[in-house]
Amino acid sequence: MSRSVLVTGGNRGIGRAIAEAFVSAGDQVAVTYRSGEPPEGMLGVRCDVTDADSVEAAFAEVEAAHGPVEVLVANAGVTRDTLVLRMSEDDWATVLETNLTGSFRVAKRAAKGMLRLRRGRLIFISSVVGLLGSAGQVNYAASKAGLVGMARSLARELGSRSITANVVAPGFVETEMTAVLPEEKKAEYKAQIPLGRYATTEEVAAVVQWLGSDAAAYVTGAVIPVDGGLGMGH
Ligand code: NDP
Repeated sequence: MSRSVLVTGGNRGIGRAIAEAFVSAGDQVAVTYRSGEPPEGMLGVRCDVTDADSVEAAFAEVEAAHGPVEVLVANAGVTRDTLVLRMSEDDWATVLETNLTGSFRVAKRAAKGMLRLRRGRLIFISSVVGLLGSAGQVNYAASKAGLVGMARSLARELGSRSITANVVAPGFVETEMTAVLPEEKKAEYKAQIPLGRYATTEEVAAVVQWLGSDAAAYVTGAVIPVDGGLGMGH
């Protein structure tokens, strides 16, 4: 099966691994990017998820090349970590605007095509901290928790048209986002993870690819942890 798959922020990190997993499964994959170059073998479309016009233009480009998006992975995300009293309005707004509103924008635009097709998969990349909470990440955790309410509402709204909406909640993953953490902090986090290590981007990608596959046709409104056991029960 060669479906039209779109991954936001697919130029690096977890998004890139997700895009590569769908390419390996034989799908036609497009990725959005702002910096650098898109990976080879994929359609790269420039897009900033905080800009509605840019999202519209990106979807038009993907649809012209691959047809309506059948699998959307809302992966683009940022952090602006600091303790609450130091967190500025801008730190809050930037993270919410990118992680939550950006995901809403792309999901809404993708749903338009999926409703016509009467099938589709919406997959949101959240985080273990969305439900667990995290000191210094009031903005980020709120944005990631928001994705759960959004996905579950979409699952209810769109389910009758065979459109599923699910959330993947990774724990710590080896990417540029976590590379900036001080070594002592990394060791402290690892001590709390039952599997005792960070995830690889491929381990997250495999679960996302499965959610987009026929095997997961009856899974919707789920929050699937890929966190080495860190968030158990949350
Ligand atoms: P990276 O920092 O490595 O990559 C972030 C990606 O998001 C980049 O492709 C970036 O594009 C894109 N992006 C950021 N802002 C925008 C925007 N306004 N418009 C379009 N694209 C944007 O992060 P990761 O790969 O680590 O994270 C990917 C997702 O996984 C994020 O949502 C993150 O919150 C989540 N996550 C990560 C974890 C981790 O431990 N790494 C753990 C749990 C969740 P560009 O290159 O142009 O900046």
